[in-house]
Amino acid sequence: MLRERVSDDVHIFTSELYAQVTAGLIVSPDGAAVIDTMAFPSETLEILDLAQNKLNVPVKYVINTHYHADHTYGTCLFKGAEVVAHRKCHDLLNTVGRRGLKEAKADNPALDKIEVILPDLVFSRGQIELHLGKKTLALTHSPGHSPDSITVLVKEDRILFAGDTMMPLPYFVDGSMDDIYRSLQAIPPMGLENIVQGHGEVILRGEIDEAVRSNLRYLDNIRRKMERLIEKGKSREDALEIDIESCGKSRIPLSGLVARLHQRNMLALYDQYSKKKAR
Ligand SMILES: [Zn+2]
Repeated sequence: MLRERVSDDVHIFTSELYAQVTAGLIVSPDGAAVIDTMAFPSETLEILDLAQNKLNVPVKYVINTHYHADHTYGTCLFKGAEVVAHRKCHDLLNTVGRRGLKEAKADNPALDKIEVILPDLVFSRGQIELHLGKKTLALTHSPGHSPDSITVLVKEDRILFAGDTMMPLPYFVDGSMDDIYRSLQAIPPMGLENIVQGHGEVILRGEIDEAVRSNLRYLDNIRRKMERLIEKGKSREDALEIDIESCGKSRIPLSGLVARLHQRNMLALYDQYSKKKAR
């Protein structure tokens, strides 16, 4: 796992085991907050060790940016922490999340001790703030990648943990393209120093506007191309012919995973648009 610091009390972790998924640790004299928790216990335990044994702070909060496995499987390793998320995250973990974990355990012995932990502090509208020493964490609903996605802003440092709202390629198969479009549009006006993406590298201040614009452009491109494809009465397989580069994105980030995410986006969009046409 890679570890870096973006400000005095803000640590970022990037997985070397699964899709460069990220997690954060915010440290204060009153305790620490962990934002997302990694997919595999070996990496989660490194975060716990840094907080408890090296920095000597108890983990007071674990924030789940959304219910997906790669962000939540480590939650159960932070015993005694209060788990914070959107209300929909609670509900999705309790249903889809439980089923997914059962299947994942059958395939992967590394997940033996993992259990689903349901958030105890949830919100369903607007924003909530958590106070941790002198830090304020503002949690905001940011749907699109999934219905329950939230972002976490460390107000004093202007660092946004964007969860999977911000990735090298917007991915909305479990959510909605229109929602992720709006959620991305909300980012540039925030006046940020850094964005910690749910997967991939930290985005620096000077790169933020272009990174968000590039994601919005991609969504504009696939919308336009898909509308044309449907108008011409093309098939679902034809949707896969629209490649990622022609939509303005490279296939290189996340070790090439983005090309597969793009294909799944196209199939989901095809299904959505062809249903709309049939009505
Ligand atoms: Zn993810």
